[in-house]
Amino acid sequence: MEIACLDLEGVLIPEVWINFAERTGIEALRATTRDIPDYDVLMRQRLQILQQHQLTLQDIQQVIDGMGPLEGAREFLDWLREHFQVVILSDTFYEFAAPLMRQLGHPTLLCHRLSVDAQGRVVAYHLRQPDPKRQAVKAFHGLNFRVIAAGDSYNDTTMLMEADRGILFRPPQRVVEEFPQFPVVYDYAAFREAFIEASERPCR
Ligand SMILES: [Mg+2]
Repeated sequence: MEIACLDLEGVLIPEVWINFAERTGIEALRATTRDIPDYDVLMRQRLQILQQHQLTLQDIQQVIDGMGPLEGAREFLDWLREHFQVVILSDTFYEFAAPLMRQLGHPTLLCHRLSVDAQGRVVAYHLRQPDPKRQAVKAFHGLNFRVIAAGDSYNDTTMLMEADRGILFRPPQRVVEEFPQFPVVYDYAAFREAFIEASERPCR
C-alpha cells in the first residue's frame, strides 16, 4: 500500500505570507524563516503586525481566497488522487488554508491551527507537534504504508528523508545542492512522471 505526502505552499499554492504581504502592501509581513530562523519569534511578529493593521481572520481569508492555487496544481492533484491516497502535510494553518483547499477540492490536510477572538482577530497559533511532517510519515509507516513524499524546501527535507522515496518540486538551488539524493522536477508533467517512477505499482 502506498501513500503520497505532499507539501502545500510552493507545491500546490503560492507562499501564503509572501503573497499576503504583496497583496496587502504590508512589507513587514514578507519576513520568513530565512530572515527570522526562530519560528515562534517569527509567528509572534506576524500576529502582532496583523493586530497593528486590524486585520481579522475574515479579511485575511478574503485576500488568500484571491490567490488561487498554482497554475496546473488542481489538475495535478486530481490526477495524483486517482492513483494514490494523498495527504497534504503543511506548516500552514487550517484557517489560512481553507479558501485554497476549497479550490483544490478539499484534499486531506494535516497542519496547525489558530485561535481567533470574538472580534475575529487572530490571537494565538498552535503547532500540532514538533517536526510534524516527519512524524506523519513515521506514523504512516506504522500503518504499513510505503510513503512517497514531495516538497519544495528545507521544512520538507526531514519528511523526504523519512519517506521511502522523496521528490523535490521547484526547490531553491541551495536545497538541490544540499540534498542531491532527491530527484528534482520543475513542472507538473515531470512531477507526475516522478511519482510514476517512484511508485511500486503501475499507475498510468
Ligand atoms: Mg513549501
